[in-house]
Amino acid sequence: MFYQIYLFDGFNVFLHLATNQNHWKSKPSSPMNNYICKTCGTQFKESSYSPDSCPICRDERQYVGLNGQSWITLKRLKQEGYNNLWKQEAPGLIGIGISPSFAIGQRALLIQTQKGNVLWDCIPFMDEETIEKVKSLGGLNAIAISHPHFYSSMVEWAHVFDCPIYLHEADRQWVMRPNEKIVFWSGNELKLNSNVVLLRLGGHFEGSAVLHWKEGANGKGSLLTGDTIYVVADRQWASFMYSYPNLIPLSTEKIKTLIRRLGDYEFENLYAAWFDAVIQKDARGRVLKSAERYIKAIR
Ligand SMILES: [Zn+2]
Ligand SMILES: [Zn+2]
Repeated sequence: MFYQIYLFDGFNVFLHLATNQNHWKSKPSSPMNNYICKTCGTQFKESSYSPDSCPICRDERQYVGLNGQSWITLKRLKQEGYNNLWKQEAPGLIGIGISPSFAIGQRALLIQTQKGNVLWDCIPFMDEETIEKVKSLGGLNAIAISHPHFYSSMVEWAHVFDCPIYLHEADRQWVMRPNEKIVFWSGNELKLNSNVVLLRLGGHFEGSAVLHWKEGANGKGSLLTGDTIYVVADRQWASFMYSYPNLIPLSTEKIKTLIRRLGDYEFENLYAAWFDAVIQKDARGRVLKSAERYIKAIR
């Protein structure tokens, strides 16, 4: 047995107790992992050590958790007993979340259209049961995501289901795991198929988008919004913020732009970012009234 002494910066002395001289040579190298930020659920590109910090959490729209930045892997989430939660929201619309709640409690929505399945928004975790269920429903034709707080483990999902991920190019800087499955779209509208259109409304993020599903609500239309449009506690009104956790509002101009970009799309109901954040009736009317109320309040 011997002691090794290390000097750092000429000040700090560190004593290392080793049992044999080959200690350092025999130390296994750290495995490569795609670390997931425990606060926001974003998965990062492969690395042997956890990232120093998460730019999405450090952005003024988000926050660093009480215990600082901490990290986990998909494998570890499985070992800790996380599961996916399924909820049939409406015919052809299934919510998929995580139990127990993880990160910001993201929930994705699987839309079954006549032209194939689309996953709207994404979540950090998936289990084998979910993979089998989604496959039994016909797999995924596309993944489309409202904004960076839902990028989560999108690349894992895209690889399992061999489909593209549609992200607005204005939010390109927030992609922490670049991948060839990602398709950046531009402009304010993108038609995924004859029933599904992505609308870039902006506001919360430059590229913040919503999804209009023509066949939703028995043909009256559904709008899926992430938190580009946020359903408030009474589920009769909506709101719009630059930062939800830090309570930073949007300007009148941004709200007007957001409403203008909704165009003439009709929708009876609206599904926001979390389970139960749903406006069931006259959702378009409620969103327009909510925008008026908001602008009046910040004047
Ligand atoms: Zn984060
Ligand atoms: Zn958000």
